[in-house]
Amino acid sequence: MCYAIPGKVEKIEKKTVIVDYFGEKRKALNELPQISVGDYIYAQGGFVVSKISVSEAESILAVWKETFFQLQEVDLRISRLNLGDKNTDKNLLEILDKASQSKELSRDELLCLLELKDQSKLELLLKTANFLRQKYHKNSCCVHGIIEISNHCIRGCQYCGISYHNKELQRYRMTKDEILKSAQVAVQEYGFKSLVLQSGEDPGYSVDELADIIKEIKDKFPTLVFISFGEIGIGGLEKLYQAGARGLLMRFETSNPKIYEDVHPGQNLESRLMHLQQAYKMGYMIITGGLIGIPGQSKEDILNDIFLAKELHAEMFSFGPFIPHPHTPFAEIKPVQHPALSDRPVRASRASAQVEEAVKVLAVARIVDNTQAKILVTTALETLSREAAKSGLLAGANSLMLNVTPLAYRPFYSIYPNRAHQSENITAQIDSAVMLLRSLGRAPTDIETIL
Ligand code: SAH
Repeated sequence: MCYAIPGKVEKIEKKTVIVDYFGEKRKALNELPQISVGDYIYAQGGFVVSKISVSEAESILAVWKETFFQLQEVDLRISRLNLGDKNTDKNLLEILDKASQSKELSRDELLCLLELKDQSKLELLLKTANFLRQKYHKNSCCVHGIIEISNHCIRGCQYCGISYHNKELQRYRMTKDEILKSAQVAVQEYGFKSLVLQSGEDPGYSVDELADIIKEIKDKFPTLVFISFGEIGIGGLEKLYQAGARGLLMRFETSNPKIYEDVHPGQNLESRLMHLQQAYKMGYMIITGGLIGIPGQSKEDILNDIFLAKELHAEMFSFGPFIPHPHTPFAEIKPVQHPALSDRPVRASRASAQVEEAVKVLAVARIVDNTQAKILVTTALETLSREAAKSGLLAGANSLMLNVTPLAYRPFYSIYPNRAHQSENITAQIDSAVMLLRSLGRAPTDIETIL
């Protein structure tokens, strides 16, 4: 599988190109020097990643053509919405009807959605979010690869299994050659068009070394590079942008400054947000979001988190459940649930209740941001249950992340225990992602649709 469908350049306006995919027009930013009208290109995350030859593009498109329209039909069928059920709470139907017409919901209405607990009502919320995803983002789904380059970290985030609290963890730091090799495998052998490089906050690499690695990846392999190294300073962000990074994955974790300071000793929300704001101004695409269920969090906080992600111009929302790690101060903390587990009519297992909570947040995020943001199915969500990726994709999400870190290092990037994809090789992950996407009628095209 390749992770983007070739498109044909139809029009060029300065740095923006209009690309045709079987009659659908999409927009992308082009920084490559030799792109002309009529060329075939791969684009990812709104950026042109590479040019491909006409013969190669035509043979790939011939294979895709039929599948593309079949997938669209499947997606359309699955995402149909029927709010005609007279037996459902009238107030809820009114809210969802308003949402389905893309009308702005009030804070109280959104909170009411976050509080839903009845299965049939929850189902309607998820269906509404999926309907909106289909309406504005069509059946495209982006698939990124992540390389976890180091698990060294100088921070003491109370929930995180690679923070300095974890004295049991064997630490690793990939060499430049290992990182380049992983990038090469991901891009050249498996066809990834977008890579996230992530680590703990590790002074073991200087910003210049990181810049050098990114530059070499960009020179050698056609891929979009996202960085996720934590707070590397504004100068650091600038250097890495110049080196070729175009995306920043940095969650603000929580929009509540008090909780932020409690769970991140010695750090503050302001500095985190400043990085995100400055990165956006520099031209980075932003992936951000928060943890669902960290101690002290209310449903108002979660709603504020969603609003904050939108305010930060997130290209993609990344909201995932907090999963306690045994070697952290939060080992014994039970993730917060809304409504509380004890209120539930049928006591579900904690993991399935957490999945439910997380997909509800994804659905409300989709309702708050119909048109702009992609929504990621996080690995933490997938860790809670095998079915969770599907549930997320049916609740408004349209993005997946596969782990392309060398298998030998993966168990040590232990931010929480038993991570999904920890021991699955890349082929196995791709096979299951492809199967899942096909079953839902999703196609791996990934640039902005012109409405
Ligand atoms: N140093 C980078 C990457 C941090 S790890 C940075 O600061 O952005 C990546 C993400 O893992 C974090 O943003 C956090 O939200 C998530 N994470 C850490 N511990 C977790 C846990 N116990 N449960 C769920 N997610 C966790």
